[in-house]
Amino acid sequence: MSKRIVVGSISHETNTFSSVPTKLADFKAQLDNEIVETHKGARTICSAFLKVSEEQGFEVIPTVWAGAQPSGLVESSAFSWLLDNLAARVASGNRPVDGVLLHLHGAMAAEGCDDVEGRVLEVVRGIVGDFTPIVATLDMHANITETMVSKANVLVGYDTYPHVDGYERGLEAAMIMARILRGEIVPVMAMAKPPMITSPQVQKTSYQPMMDIMKQAHKMEEEDERIINVTVAAGYPFADFEFTGTSIVVTADKDRELAQNKADELAAYLWRRRRAFLADVTPVQEAIEEALETSEGPVVLADLADNPGGGAPCDGTVILRALMKTGAVDALVAVIADPESVAKAIEAGVGSNVTLKVGGKTDRLHGDPVEVTGTVKTISDGRFMPTGPMATGLETSIGRTVLLRCVGVDVILSEKPYAPTSLALYRSLGIEPEDKKIIVVKSAVHFRAAHEPIAKRIIEVDAPGIHGARLAAFNYKRVRRPIFPLDAEMLGIAELNKAWN
Ligand SMILES: [Zn+2]
Repeated sequence: MSKRIVVGSISHETNTFSSVPTKLADFKAQLDNEIVETHKGARTICSAFLKVSEEQGFEVIPTVWAGAQPSGLVESSAFSWLLDNLAARVASGNRPVDGVLLHLHGAMAAEGCDDVEGRVLEVVRGIVGDFTPIVATLDMHANITETMVSKANVLVGYDTYPHVDGYERGLEAAMIMARILRGEIVPVMAMAKPPMITSPQVQKTSYQPMMDIMKQAHKMEEEDERIINVTVAAGYPFADFEFTGTSIVVTADKDRELAQNKADELAAYLWRRRRAFLADVTPVQEAIEEALETSEGPVVLADLADNPGGGAPCDGTVILRALMKTGAVDALVAVIADPESVAKAIEAGVGSNVTLKVGGKTDRLHGDPVEVTGTVKTISDGRFMPTGPMATGLETSIGRTVLLRCVGVDVILSEKPYAPTSLALYRSLGIEPEDKKIIVVKSAVHFRAAHEPIAKRIIEVDAPGIHGARLAAFNYKRVRRPIFPLDAEMLGIAELNKAWN
């Protein structure tokens, strides 16, 4: 009889510093067979689960596959709906399931539930019992908890940031499930959590220190065949919980002590390299001056703190205001999400001059609205087709969009937040990005894939916001203390002095 495998996902990256609650309507959710229809043959994590299941002759039980853009706490009614629907489907059917494959983010939080993934795993475990394997994939930004480790059999995190290996990790997780069901392995997990939180700015896996750390992780997997998986979850720092921070989870075959030793070893290595995780960002005015002094463009100014990909509102105005004040020329700000200004500009029409108060409307943390006067240059429906390297061929829609030409600065105003991961956005509005001297992007890391090939220089800017790189600027109340880099004693200043003398 074929093995019955549950496939499901509840996923969200929750920024607890955001004032924008995440509602059920914000989730793109598929149920039952809709999941198979949507993902079969594509390159999502779910596609990978389905592919391996087909090859292994598993009977797939599709349940709930739901994810939403990063934002604030998920409303409790939304989380209940998602979890109840998942649980009901796991429990249904006339014979018990043989395995559970889930994709969870690892940094989802709801009203009344700090550790959503722990809760999901606990509920599913309660239904399937202790002897049914649960294997889950996680984002590299997961803040992994003891509950997650105790309720799942295997957790497989992404190895890349930007995250380009979701499909591969999905294949890996599903193959681990197949090996468990054949009786080839008995996975046991252990976790180590060095006392540190790190900013996404310094988590890029093709840069140091993450490059070396991932190399060590892969070496551990290759050197010893008893090591099934080594997951380095860099963690999501914009969540104020006791368990927030970097986690190392090692899965070994039967040998828990081995798993713990390897996790501790890698955690110690990370800890020794911790000072390389200190954020290095340039103050706003300095960044603009450096950009203007660079002889060739485009210079990309990354507004890390207002990255909608990490739950920020995408309507910060501090860099825009400074550009205008400095008298920048050939600058472009991409994008400011401001539906009210978009509506006013569209009402005025192409070619009209308008004066608008743009941005700064979500909260008081990303600068005040800025008054700009300019010409409505282009109006679009905000749909474009990314030409790579991210989301290639998946039509993107950022709502009605306006290109406003002000003196020296073009501003893209959109109805929805968007971190520019494709140059297609610019071209859809008639802008050739390579002709610009300065491009401001609301993004922390994902903009790089498309912008590095054209940028003469990239400057990571220290503007204010809830996705900022300097973690010490955040008003943490619940993270465990002391923790790096918030507490001086964790910085290792004394060690540094010793090294210098
Ligand atoms: Zn992530």
